[in-house]
Amino acid sequence: MEIQIIKTENPKEKPESSVLGFGKYFTDHMFIMQYSREEGWHDAKIIPFGNLSLHPASTVLHYGSEIFEGMKAYRRADGEVQLFRPIENVRRMNNSAERLCLPQIPEDDAMQILDTFVSLEKDWTPAAPGTSLYLRPFMFGNDETLGVHAVHHATYVLIASPVGSYYKEGINPVKIMIEDEDVRAVRGGTGYAKCGGNYAASNRAGQRAEEKGYSQVLWLDGVERKYIEEVGAMNVMFKIGGEIVTPKLTGSILPGITRKSCIEVLRDEGYTVHERLLSVDELGEALKNGTLEEAWGCGTAAVVSPIGELCYKGVKYTINNGEIGKVTQHLYDTLTGIQWGKIEDTRGWTYPIR
Ligand SMILES: *Cc1c(COP(=O)(O)O)cnc(C)c1O
Repeated sequence: MEIQIIKTENPKEKPESSVLGFGKYFTDHMFIMQYSREEGWHDAKIIPFGNLSLHPASTVLHYGSEIFEGMKAYRRADGEVQLFRPIENVRRMNNSAERLCLPQIPEDDAMQILDTFVSLEKDWTPAAPGTSLYLRPFMFGNDETLGVHAVHHATYVLIASPVGSYYKEGINPVKIMIEDEDVRAVRGGTGYAKCGGNYAASNRAGQRAEEKGYSQVLWLDGVERKYIEEVGAMNVMFKIGGEIVTPKLTGSILPGITRKSCIEVLRDEGYTVHERLLSVDELGEALKNGTLEEAWGCGTAAVVSPIGELCYKGVKYTINNGEIGKVTQHLYDTLTGIQWGKIEDTRGWTYPIR
């Protein structure tokens, strides 16, 4: 595909890595392209970073047709910049698009967009430990009418933001509250799609948990409120009686790339990993009888996030003395080692940017 490049005349000053935080600063450019049923994807270009202009009736503003991805470019010790399993993000975005009746992007084109854009913005990839260049591809329905139907026009945008280390003060286990009122998603709904609407529907429970001193909620399934699904914006794993258990992908859970990578690493190393239904009662039993050894969330932002405390129906349970467990630490070291190029990538997961 042809990508027109219009470079900025006013490159910004790059922030110090100590002030980065998450998603506060943006690079000099953005990629944007348009879709119409008649023309397909067209007008692909990289332009100076700036505001979008939308018709007030644009579909996304009224009916929420929006999907996104989240991935990172990592600066290796040798100075090179690389992506981690980008094809997985490309495929997942197409699955999300299919669910929301948004147009898919041919895999080769999506990879070319990522490659071209990151290559242009490469210098924005910070080098301090734990920092990275966060990439946010997103797509939205953009018909200029209030009629409700599958979209005829869509816009795809890719922006990038240098982000700080998730664990500035070391890896601290988080407190998680099991949510038994609101649900995030139901089977047959959009749980497996990475769409903005899922987040809009999650905010209330997240806010209530925060007010009680918990950092995120652990979602239960939307039908019986019985089975563990995932944590906020992360998948969740438990070590129970020496074996790893993670909820299976039933359609209401986001199929995380970190989840998939953790499972592959663990199985390669001989751990037994069960992808199955896990009820909150079974988890409660394991908490009480001491067989729950470790619990952690996993996602691109944190890689893994140890869970030190779970609260269910007002009762608090401490996990592994509120400390990070061995398997959790090992997964963190292995995945970050591959991502930042400190450990050899034997699985073909990394994608160098030239
Ligand atoms: C993005 C996301 C995850 C984690 O996926 P990764 O590919 O590992 O980053 C988990 N749950 C939800 C709801 C998400 O949006």
